[in-house]
Amino acid sequence: MTLRQQFLAHIGQTSPEPLLLEVERAEGVFFYTPQGKRYYDLISGVSVNNVGHANPAVISAVQMQAADYMHVMVYGELVERPQVQYAKLISELLPDPLDSVYFVNSGSEAVEGALKLAKRYTGRHKMMSMHCAYHGSNHGSLSMMASPEGDTWKAPFQPLLPNVEYLWFNNFDDINRIDEETACVLVEPVQGEAGVIPPKEGYLQALRRRCDETGTMLIFDEIQTGLGRTGAMFAMQKYGVTPDIVCLAKAFGGGMPLGAFISSKEIMDSLQSNPVLGHITTFGGHPVCCAAGLAALQYNIDNHLVDNVEEKGKRYEEALKNAPHVQEIRRSGLLMAVELGSSDKLFKIMSLFKENGIMSDWFLFCDTAFRISPPLTISEEEIDDSCRIILRCLENIYEQ
Ligand code: PLP
Repeated sequence: MTLRQQFLAHIGQTSPEPLLLEVERAEGVFFYTPQGKRYYDLISGVSVNNVGHANPAVISAVQMQAADYMHVMVYGELVERPQVQYAKLISELLPDPLDSVYFVNSGSEAVEGALKLAKRYTGRHKMMSMHCAYHGSNHGSLSMMASPEGDTWKAPFQPLLPNVEYLWFNNFDDINRIDEETACVLVEPVQGEAGVIPPKEGYLQALRRRCDETGTMLIFDEIQTGLGRTGAMFAMQKYGVTPDIVCLAKAFGGGMPLGAFISSKEIMDSLQSNPVLGHITTFGGHPVCCAAGLAALQYNIDNHLVDNVEEKGKRYEEALKNAPHVQEIRRSGLLMAVELGSSDKLFKIMSLFKENGIMSDWFLFCDTAFRISPPLTISEEEIDDSCRIILRCLENIYEQ
């Protein structure tokens, strides 16, 4: 059997038509098949590889930490240098009072932890999130998702969490539905899977105000927007609003599986009692993952990656905004949706991308736009070259 046949036979699949591209190696903004075909990874493994594939700083940190120690009991008892150093650096970069970091393994888990923390701290049960938001696939995080097609994504998996209500993102009136019984409001500062929807001016501030009035925890899901993606180290800084809890993952692990929910020490400490061990984990904050994440963040800082994100995003936008079939470009930094206004066109362009060496993707709740979220390390030449390929594909959309 070929590797592809073994993949189809033995790898659990959730899509009836997988891409089936075989990956041999990856470097910078590219990955390569065993036949040597090169692909621009314009989604960075879905906003993970901010510092590029095979970044030497990350590889060296992983190798060194693996040689020192890999797994020991990770949570709460032993003092482990990679965890402590990473938590300290992240706390220094985040606005006050976000200085207490609970490491987990993934984005979904970061959301689960944040929800529990908000319930525990407020003593309330009602939770709110946004329509067209994606926060993960576990039961808790899935409960916080509300798709535009109604309950399609969730119906087969009911019962999910009770007492969850959904607001419309960017709708100021809806904010008044937050009340004194609401434990938390979970929101992506820029909605990702909705097809990249930035916040309206003053919207996040209005959410913050209402949460302050009602004693509700404001939770930002910065799993996709964090670590420079939107042109600030965290989107909360770009939009000038500090949440009570923030969730990180994806680029946070520098390519390794790592997430975190982060709050003030006062709020976080509520997980110490009633019950003791209010949240525990076997692998969260694995030393090798923390070493990788720390090295990636240090590389990001040392090379001033964030400073150039807006300019690079603009370069893509300028090159593509007047291209054939492009109706609109929605963007925050290097998180971008190129709107074609038709799922048929999107389907055709994806197939052309596959032939022509471009890795893109659509969005969970938007099947009319393709995604561009390359490594932040992408050069101007690589942007121009990838745009030339994209333009050629757009011009040939009806030639297939
Ligand atoms: N939150 C957001 C905004 C995401 O984009 C994702 C993943 O795409 C998640 C949460 C879930 O993260 P994970 O897949 O690591 O569980």
